Amino acid sequence: MPHMQPVTFTPIGVIHSPYKEKFGIPRQPSLVPAARITLELVPPFDHPDAVRGLEAFSHVWISFVFHQTAARGWTPLVRPPRLGGNAKVGVFASRSTHRPNPLGLSLVELLGVDTSNGVRLLLGGADLLDGTPVLDIKPYIPFVEARPEAQGGFVDGPPPALAVSWSEQASADLAAATDAPADFAELIVQVLAQDPRPAYQDDPERIYGVRLYCYDVRFKVAGQSAQVLEICR
Ligand code: SAH
Repeated sequence: MPHMQPVTFTPIGVIHSPYKEKFGIPRQPSLVPAARITLELVPPFDHPDAVRGLEAFSHVWISFVFHQTAARGWTPLVRPPRLGGNAKVGVFASRSTHRPNPLGLSLVELLGVDTSNGVRLLLGGADLLDGTPVLDIKPYIPFVEARPEAQGGFVDGPPPALAVSWSEQASADLAAATDAPADFAELIVQVLAQDPRPAYQDDPERIYGVRLYCYDVRFKVAGQSAQVLEICR
């Protein structure tokens, strides 16, 4: 078979993200708009010329490597969380991270381009783990790529959102978290609202922890409500 040799790519940049582990990251971008993520270009790609004109676009495609799960390999059938974790679909009919080539593709908001010292892109609402290697950036071209008439298969429409409340302890912890960003509360609410629990778990007594920045946000879920219990450093 011609042209089917393995190919090698060099990452052009790295992601700096409040998401320090996989658990809690939204399953697609834009579900958590408060997530502020930085893409830092690395040498020799960190030249301001390489992003000239990009600031005129509101959204960009980010191609990246699912580096944390890449070693796990793949199977032809996967169980998407949106189907409750039971039904299977083909890996190529899913956005599963376990793919023959562990490549991710996210459409994210471009909030800023900083070329004052190297190149940094400020991204809104990304679904990316801290340390993710980035392979490419492309501007999003709405007149070609926005297809409101498209069929969304088993993911037609946003997932149901949980209501999020705060315990007294969590409110006090939040007030004391002075080194957290100003929109930390918003980030917590949006992350918990999209119900990070594995599809098959429904135990109202179970306490979960999501790592955001240097904090462990502890919560539980009963019915359609999540409660923030405490925020530990
Ligand atoms: N929008 C992308 C990603 C969808 S899967 C695409 O469609 O290709 C989204 C999940 O990817 C998140 O819930 C998170 O758990 C996982 N993820 C994000 N960055 C990752 C990384 N560097 N390595 C492994 N998994 C990652």
